[in-house]
Amino acid sequence: MTDPLLDGLNPEQREAVTLPDQNALVLAGAGSGKTRVLTSRIGWLIREGRATPGSILAVTFTNKASREMLSRIESVLKVNTRGMWVGTFHGLCNRMLRVHAADAGLPSGFQIIDQADQLSVVKRVMKSAGIDKETIEPKIVQHFINQHKEAGERSSDIRSLDARTPNGAVSLELYRLYEKLCMAEGVVDFAELLLRSYELLQRNELIRRHYERKFSHILVDEFQDTNVLQYRWLKTLAGYGIPGMAREPGITNSIFAVGDDDQSIYAFRGANVKNLTDFTRELGVDHVVRLEQNYRSTGHILDAANALIGNNTGRLGKNLWTDSGKGEKLRVMPTGSGEAEAQFVANEIEAEHLRGRKYEDFAILYRSNAQSRALESILMSAGIPYRIYGGHRFFERAHVKDALAYLRLVENPNDNTAFLRAVNTPTRGIGAKTLEGLSAAAETAGVSLMTAAKNSPTKAAAFSDLILNIRDKIADLPLVEAVKVVIESSTLRAAVEAADKKEHTAKAEDLDEIANAAAAFLKNAEIDEKTPALLPVSEDELSPLSAFLALATLEAGDNQSEAGADAVQMMTVHAAKGLEFPVVFITGLEENLFPHASAMRENGDSGLEEERRLMYVAITRAKRRLYLSYAAVRFINGQRQDEMPSSFLDEIPQEHLEWLADPQAASRESWASSSGSWGRGGDEPHRGRASYGHWGERRSDSESRGSGDRGTFTGNAYTWSPKGKDASYNGSKDEPLLKKRKAGPDGWQAGQHVKHPKFGKGVIVSVIDSGDMTKLQVAFVGGGVKQLLAKIAKLEKI
Ligand code: ATP
Ligand code: MG
Repeated sequence: MTDPLLDGLNPEQREAVTLPDQNALVLAGAGSGKTRVLTSRIGWLIREGRATPGSILAVTFTNKASREMLSRIESVLKVNTRGMWVGTFHGLCNRMLRVHAADAGLPSGFQIIDQADQLSVVKRVMKSAGIDKETIEPKIVQHFINQHKEAGERSSDIRSLDARTPNGAVSLELYRLYEKLCMAEGVVDFAELLLRSYELLQRNELIRRHYERKFSHILVDEFQDTNVLQYRWLKTLAGYGIPGMAREPGITNSIFAVGDDDQSIYAFRGANVKNLTDFTRELGVDHVVRLEQNYRSTGHILDAANALIGNNTGRLGKNLWTDSGKGEKLRVMPTGSGEAEAQFVANEIEAEHLRGRKYEDFAILYRSNAQSRALESILMSAGIPYRIYGGHRFFERAHVKDALAYLRLVENPNDNTAFLRAVNTPTRGIGAKTLEGLSAAAETAGVSLMTAAKNSPTKAAAFSDLILNIRDKIADLPLVEAVKVVIESSTLRAAVEAADKKEHTAKAEDLDEIANAAAAFLKNAEIDEKTPALLPVSEDELSPLSAFLALATLEAGDNQSEAGADAVQMMTVHAAKGLEFPVVFITGLEENLFPHASAMRENGDSGLEEERRLMYVAITRAKRRLYLSYAAVRFINGQRQDEMPSSFLDEIPQEHLEWLADPQAASRESWASSSGSWGRGGDEPHRGRASYGHWGERRSDSESRGSGDRGTFTGNAYTWSPKGKDASYNGSKDEPLLKKRKAGPDGWQAGQHVKHPKFGKGVIVSVIDSGDMTKLQVAFVGGGVKQLLAKIAKLEKI
């Protein structure tokens, strides 16, 4: 009999899925099936009657991951998963606080503010306290606040300050004022969601007991990245968090955690890998399950990752192997500049796309967000669709946030942050002076800006009337209608159209899209679409509008707009955690960029080890093919900088690498200037380094790290076999690459063996089909790949 939950799992995975009810840890490397085990276990618990959906709480790393988990469980089990609590720490804490807002000391319609809004609140606090940014940077204050919240400390808990904290006393006072302001305005930042919820559980025994009994099974993915407070929150839910008590009597629920110490990449945000060892000790985990088979990547990729991470110290240690064969070597591409690197990436993607790979099979990873710009502009001009995952997504776009500010203000007129964002957007001639006066008046009278504005003799009074009128107008309207009315009345659309000097711009479309997002939200949340927007509906007494706004803030971190379209995926390495892609590019592999200089400057060796874990995460995202690229020159903050290849490249044994170009040539020339010149065929010598030849290995590691020496190219060490490569790509257990291999107009086909009068024998690697201008990429046996114009290249089929 087939068992959709257990079939196909290896014995260790099966053991983990079917463990008895006890605290357990699965400690295993990347791609070994941890997430799959966790999802299967939830399904198994329900199916076996050990748990009901309502008794399960599962923590995922992103909202997207939680949606995937739910749909996987639903597809196997046909159960309604609505009662299940699956989400990120933030999402779960939000859910809990909505139900118990009053007990948690929050207004029922509290709004969540994101990092950017938080910074603007900090700035306001600093302003009213008369502290300028020369004294202390608002960002440093923000960091101070978040760091303490994530360690579970309120301003009143901080007794002594670390002497190394610059301006500690000022920061502490600002933290205190910040807390006060957030309370007065009914807004909650991300760290606060967790701290509040933790305090609620700690202080309110009845509520704690309720959840301890409700959640018989608590499951946590990516456990290595939980911070101190998250770990305490989990322990509290399992009855272990009460000071002076080993475990609360009568509590029998259990925590099932999966993680990988080698993938701990949030130490800079307070995540603590020590939680892994603490967990086994404090919660009496006597059996740690280890999974050793990797199902994601082929051999060279996995071996490269293992070798790299082997340079870290203090690892918990594990072996990973794969039975999917060696696969392809990692392709290393030295380039002359950031643009040349981007061009290379675009060329490779296009060539592979023409051979039938979908765009969505490619991921481009980078260490810092700023690197995406060069990549974006070249992908855009090459007409390659892409999607940025983790950058400025829909709900984070400035004009969308403007519209949300109106919605927030209509929902809660006391939300001063929203007030300040909306009051002069579009411009209403309300100047900074007026606003300062209003702030002072509001503070003296202890009222919100909205109330102060209403009674003021300024233009802000009209704004106040506008908002209160809109509030009346939408009182009986359902959400989607209400959203439309608010956006219409805000006159934001006219303003963005005027600014762009035309109608129906992308920004205007974004504003219209908010109503669609609201409709989709109602559907997902199963809220009757006719329910008035301001009327509390759910068990947690949230109006549809509040619930929608909470979702918009919490999900801004996930990419959800434009989902489904075939597009290349771009993201930072941090955002790639837990994901996998057939083809991955790791770009910007330069010393000080990756590993990043700041991480090493601030944290020395431990900083370097964290960067190495990050590189381990990056490498292990790839299923079949991995490119590693770097540039000899890069513009950083407008400054031209000479770059050295990343030391991580030296930590991967050469046997796993295949160099696509001569590293010295890349540093000598700006590849950008020649990358556009296609070879014109045999009559003319091939100009510049328009294409990337396949070069032999660099010599020894130590040699290649010499001063200014970018590695030694050993001439003719040509090792590439196109036939073999095709075969291994095709033979993978992945979908076949060459499904719809295109033939050029003259029947040119990738894989075709050819002969050229000058370059000799070779094989067509790709056909870039555009009629008369069709270009062929040919790998010649004598060395190098050339791109030739089919029409004039004197190529002969052999
Ligand atoms: P990471 O550490 O990167 O989060 P992970 O350990 O969570 O990785 P999964 O994402 O669960 O690994 O699994 C990696 C891939 O291997 C997925 O595509 C998954 O479907 C597949 N996989 C896991 N177990 C098996 C198995 N027993 N047989 C076949 N494929 C498997
Ligand atoms: Mg995983």
